[in-house]
Amino acid sequence: MPSSKKIEEILDYIKECSPGQDEFYQASQEVLYSLRPLLNEDSRYLEQNILERIVVPERSIIFRVNWVDDVGKIQTNLGYRVQFNSAIGPYKGGLRFHPTVNLGIVKFLGFEQIFKNALTGLQIGGAKGGSNFDPKGKSDNEVMRFCQAFMSELYKHIGNKRDVPAGDIGVGAREIGYLFGQYKKLTGEFEGVLTGKGLNWGGSKARKEATGYGSVYFAENFLNAYDNDLKGKRCTISGSGNVAIYTIEKLYEFGALPISCSDSRGTIYHEKGIDLETLKAIKEINHESLEAYASLHTDAIYTPVSHYPTDGHAVWHIACDIAFPSATQNELTLTDAKVLEKNGCILINEGANMPTTAEALEYIRESKMLFAPGKAANAGGVATSQLEMSQNASMAQWSFEEVDIKLRTIMQNIFKTAYDTSVEFDCEGDLVTGANIAGFRKVADSMIDQGSV
Ligand code: NDP
Repeated sequence: MPSSKKIEEILDYIKECSPGQDEFYQASQEVLYSLRPLLNEDSRYLEQNILERIVVPERSIIFRVNWVDDVGKIQTNLGYRVQFNSAIGPYKGGLRFHPTVNLGIVKFLGFEQIFKNALTGLQIGGAKGGSNFDPKGKSDNEVMRFCQAFMSELYKHIGNKRDVPAGDIGVGAREIGYLFGQYKKLTGEFEGVLTGKGLNWGGSKARKEATGYGSVYFAENFLNAYDNDLKGKRCTISGSGNVAIYTIEKLYEFGALPISCSDSRGTIYHEKGIDLETLKAIKEINHESLEAYASLHTDAIYTPVSHYPTDGHAVWHIACDIAFPSATQNELTLTDAKVLEKNGCILINEGANMPTTAEALEYIRESKMLFAPGKAANAGGVATSQLEMSQNASMAQWSFEEVDIKLRTIMQNIFKTAYDTSVEFDCEGDLVTGANIAGFRKVADSMIDQGSV
């Protein structure tokens, strides 16, 4: 059967069996279509029904999380862990705490994670989890009680050789601490069952910085391949969380000028460059809205969400050379992509997971703009998580510089793998195809080796 027909069949099956899981459908569609050159060249993948198998998680766990709020009332949330694929190693992938979390979101993130983890060259399978719990506006004690309740179920399904969760949106050092404490209490084991841990109790230096730094290393490698670099480039960044902040920090080190950031309420445009110290104080310490940035820097322009362009986001309407979407999924629309192109943007480098809508991606791939897909460009976080696991296993702690050098090398290798694969399949520089095929091939070959498990 021709690969296109098979892909259509599988996408129909996903639509039928996963109704309403739009983001999962979007991610599957992007990956499966980009595999066509490989499927046409090597018949084993269709013969062995790899596509049918790879789009179904090995295990999806959904559980109730009851916790007591500060006024003594019992609250209920949903918890998820989707263990998608363990062909090349134990499951690995973050936990997201955000009101928008549902099974479709967790499945899309887990599916992407399979190929991202394979691309790192490390032995880690793909998973993702989380809850519709919103840490925003909750007291520390409420967050602690929620994390303890969440882990009271999750601990049954994870372990340092089985499944090693990490952070994602809404899950930072504080949440990982509470989750780890509860795991230890329930199992009596002090083991590297989570990554993103505190430095005093098994964490890795440079893990916090890794996704943002890695995203910038990736962009530099991509530009270098076209005799260009980051120096002097005006960069727009969306988000103001972990990934965005450390993207901005590393961009300054490369001599670029990061001029924007955003949160769920608005966008900051600071023409002379984002003041990183102010940003960290507002977001990492005080957990305030970005409106506070504009009141401290009167030359910065704040645009609230209510003033965003129709079908678009203010941040992508600021003229730039390079765009770093680093907030959330589907935050860069077709309208945004057209404006970026018109304004002379040369590279869109995804720090977030699937921040570009399907329509925007199609448009960008037809344009002259370079495009770095998140599963390659933001893989520095999970790669450094794996370095944390290695340090835990050998009871070592490497210096910041040692970890950063390894991260830089890993990002260089991820770029090379994705780029070389694009060349192999006659689409030089199309890193969507390159990254998907390279990640898929490693996982699929391992599935074939391991038989019908
Ligand atoms: P954080 O929670 O630290 O920050 C998320 C940022 O995105 C915040 O500025 C938040 O604004 C904004 N945001 C979240 N949801 C929305 C929304 N619906 N609309 C507009 N803005 C929104 O998360 P991270 O920085 O860790 O993650 C950002 C992205 O990077 C995610 O896609 C994540 O999956 C991906 N990623 C993260 C990795 C990591 O190591 N942390 C690794 C690989 C990928 P506000 O503060 O107002 O909520």
